[in-house]
Amino acid sequence: MEKRQFKTEVSDLLHLIIHSLYSHKEIFLRELVSNASDALDKAKYKMLTEGNSPDQELRIDISFTEGDKRTLTISDNGIGMTHDELNENLGTIAHSGTKQFLANLTQDQKQNSNLIGQFGVGFYSAFMVADKVEVTSRAYGSTEAWKWSSDGHEKYTIEEAQLDHTGTQIVLYLNDEGKEYANRWQIEQLIKQYSDHIAYPIFLAYDQNTYDDKYNVTGTEHKVEQINTAAALWTRSKSELTEKDYNDFYKNSWYDTEDPLFYIHTKAEGATEYTTLFYIPTKAPADMYHADYKSGVKLYVKRVYITDDEKELLPSYLRFVRGIIDSEDLPLNVSREILQQNRVMANIRNASVKKLLSEFKKLADQNPDLYSKFIEQYNRPLKEGLYQDFANRDELLGLVRFKSTSVDGWTSLDAYKERMTADQKAIYYLAGADSEALKKSPLLAMYREKGIEVLLMGDDIDDLVISGVGKFKDLEFKAINKSGAMDDFESADDKKKAEEENKGLVEKVKKALGDRVKEVKSSTRLSDVAAVVVTDDYDPTVRMQQLFKAMGQDTFEKVAPILEINPSDPFVKRIADSSDDSFVSDASSILLDQALIAEGVLPEDPAEFAAKLHRILAQ
Ligand code: ADP
Repeated sequence: MEKRQFKTEVSDLLHLIIHSLYSHKEIFLRELVSNASDALDKAKYKMLTEGNSPDQELRIDISFTEGDKRTLTISDNGIGMTHDELNENLGTIAHSGTKQFLANLTQDQKQNSNLIGQFGVGFYSAFMVADKVEVTSRAYGSTEAWKWSSDGHEKYTIEEAQLDHTGTQIVLYLNDEGKEYANRWQIEQLIKQYSDHIAYPIFLAYDQNTYDDKYNVTGTEHKVEQINTAAALWTRSKSELTEKDYNDFYKNSWYDTEDPLFYIHTKAEGATEYTTLFYIPTKAPADMYHADYKSGVKLYVKRVYITDDEKELLPSYLRFVRGIIDSEDLPLNVSREILQQNRVMANIRNASVKKLLSEFKKLADQNPDLYSKFIEQYNRPLKEGLYQDFANRDELLGLVRFKSTSVDGWTSLDAYKERMTADQKAIYYLAGADSEALKKSPLLAMYREKGIEVLLMGDDIDDLVISGVGKFKDLEFKAINKSGAMDDFESADDKKKAEEENKGLVEKVKKALGDRVKEVKSSTRLSDVAAVVVTDDYDPTVRMQQLFKAMGQDTFEKVAPILEINPSDPFVKRIADSSDDSFVSDASSILLDQALIAEGVLPEDPAEFAAKLHRILAQ
């Protein structure tokens, strides 16, 4: 017998699991059954690809003993584990879902055991209900079996053993917390709740008393009964399934506490045959904005599980979608490389994207309340689609929503178009840090006066996306913080006249600011502020430059902004009237800095800024 020490991470983990999951200890059964089901998937796959037909039905068996020494046994005839695999898989957590589970927990979640119960925590959860766990396993294709055994503290042992079938048998020696699970009704109830749709039959063995006509016990009878439905849910017809069936399947398979927002079950027949079942989670998955997000879509071929780790099944902007794709036409031994170039897969993917987008559209038309919940979570990834998925750009433009100066809540571009004034020539927008702050922008005053709606774009990617898209139907998007936006409102003559009038002032300020500005312009659109910064039509906005800098990308040469000044502002008038060079210099600099601050850009040299401000105030 070999004695071994767990890797330290395992001991820490065991401790944490046992304590934080305490109020959800029953999930151990879900975890062990789902491991067994994975092992059966792998065995089935092996047999089919190697051309062997299974010599026995693939199944999971559960049995228990009552009395003083209560045990619970979960056994499968799946792929099994070799001696080394037992060590690897159960002696370290390097591969296990448990590790990911821990990494994903926030501090709040660690304190909220209600949430914790929903994650996949893996094999080690067995130690919540057992003093000792024995795993006896015989790997597929091997004749020898090995027994792994541990009390869940620091050590485990491995020794040679006997097992009369390929697969794995796990015996739990139940502790006080676990003894309630050595019970037929408890087990049946938990399997129904968590594992009903496991694609393999789960059998429960139990002894039942037999009675004579006077209800005296005459003996016991040993029974073995299937306790789950064992049909992959998506293969059943829609009419046979209730909303609860769909929702339970979702919650159990993707470990969510909440029902999904909605689901889409499609069977496609014809040139390519496949079934898809997609779910939209009510809350965006926690890793939606992580570069290493986990794919939420599982691929099956003819009901055989292939992978849940293939991000190409849907485009990345739909990474929040959970679900299943089950194809009739792919080969079972499809590799990742084949998948990525496979025509069948490409067809399924394209059709799935179209289907999802058209269902989103339907929802927007038919159930606006639900759609706004959807948008609260997924507007941003859909916007990513605008620059990723050229083929579906029009559909996506119909789906994304924006905040605006004219409506509370969200507006679609179509609704904006409807509300446009008769002579309006473009869709006006202002992008910035967040839409609430944007509402206060001085640039909006003129549009408000003219009754023109401006979209307030508060997502960091809006600028990029919109400048990439350029147009909605025949309407151009125009950023109101770009210099050209005014051309729609000023006649060339008026512009020239105003320029003439303020020529002296403009030159004075430009001279004072030097190359801190690209240009100084007198503005007719500012009523309640002294100045604003804008950018040339083809220059990146001040905010965009900041964003790229924050991401560590020196994509742009630093582009100086254009300063628009309001000639009727009292402070600007002072500059115009002053012949004191040092006042003009300080005041112009303050004018620029305050306009930048309003954009969220802080002065490069705060001490210098404070000194100038102080000199002005003192005067
Ligand atoms: P996870 O299942 O998330 O990887 P676990 O801690 O539950 O993490 O299991 C660790 C590994 O042990 C599994 O990935 C699998 O390789 C192996 N394993 C667990 N149970 C079985 C089983 N019944 N049959 C075969 N292998 C198993």
